[in-house]
Amino acid sequence: MNSTQLLQPMEQTESANKIPVEPILKVKNLKVHFPVKAGIMQRTTGYVKAVDDISFHVKRGETLGIVGESGCGKSTMGRSLIRLNEPTEGSIIFNGNDITAMSEKELRPLIRRKIQMVFQDPYASLNPRKSLGNTLNEPLRAHNLHGNQRERDERIKELLNVVGLHSSSMNHYPHEFSGGQRQRIGIARALVLNPDLIIADEAVSALDVSIQAQIINLLEDLQEQFDLTYIFISHDLSVVRHIADRVGVMYLGKLVELADKAELYVEPLHPYTKALLSAVPSIRSKGAQTRERIVLKGDIPSSINQPSGCVFHTRCPVRMEHCKVAIPTLKEVKPGHFVACHLYD
Ligand code: SF4
Repeated sequence: MNSTQLLQPMEQTESANKIPVEPILKVKNLKVHFPVKAGIMQRTTGYVKAVDDISFHVKRGETLGIVGESGCGKSTMGRSLIRLNEPTEGSIIFNGNDITAMSEKELRPLIRRKIQMVFQDPYASLNPRKSLGNTLNEPLRAHNLHGNQRERDERIKELLNVVGLHSSSMNHYPHEFSGGQRQRIGIARALVLNPDLIIADEAVSALDVSIQAQIINLLEDLQEQFDLTYIFISHDLSVVRHIADRVGVMYLGKLVELADKAELYVEPLHPYTKALLSAVPSIRSKGAQTRERIVLKGDIPSSINQPSGCVFHTRCPVRMEHCKVAIPTLKEVKPGHFVACHLYD
């Protein structure tokens, strides 16, 4: 059974009262491979398998955390969901629409409005010559929203208040704001078009711990206020633990484990997840199976020459002989707890 088939029963038994819940986003067998070119002729000599056959769904109103070390493909995966990186294979179903093969014109009302991203460094994507008011006005004008300029200005002021900035900020320029304020601007910009889904990619990673907490609290308040769904991508397991409802763990382009937060942080099953959690002292002291620090040997292999079989076998402390040849698929081993590892075959 492949990971796509495994998604079906889980979607149909989400709620306690057994009413089927249609996920807001369904990702099936998603691959994002980048060609590697070499020589004068720029021939393709291989592929970077940044995202390699990933399937999952996101429930409306939840926060799905995606964790993994730098280079595991989590950011590429997030960007591919809004087609900033084009999927090589697989499908992305958003609100019942397959957006994988849509033209830019078709995507505009669907995902350019309804799915937004918040990045690690909002400053890099803000035009230093434009006031905050102009920056927020642009998407409203482009999508013909909120009528005339006076109405758009009202919307912008209201949004600034919602994210904790004074409405007079609309006359200021990006360099006049602190790191935390800039991230509030990034969030305001994500909210301006009234999205359903926000993908936050390392959104608090560059901030001080106290500011991180403020931004996380803000995101949680906004989620409740505007009925938002989040995909929260981060290398920081402590932050994800705070905000996520369910957590997926990525390694070398693969989703190796997916479970409810409470389950994953206390009883992780995949050897990689166990190692990751054991490296965080505040988490290590709480999980029964993660008290011992597990130090992984070796570096993450190149995603151009991925190991055969289980991609984690070169570093796995409990690998078996057939792990070198047989690729484990993501299986549901407990209700709602999925793992890709031959230990659970
Ligand atoms: Fe380790 Fe084998 Fe499981 Fe991979 S499949 S994580 S190598 S035990």
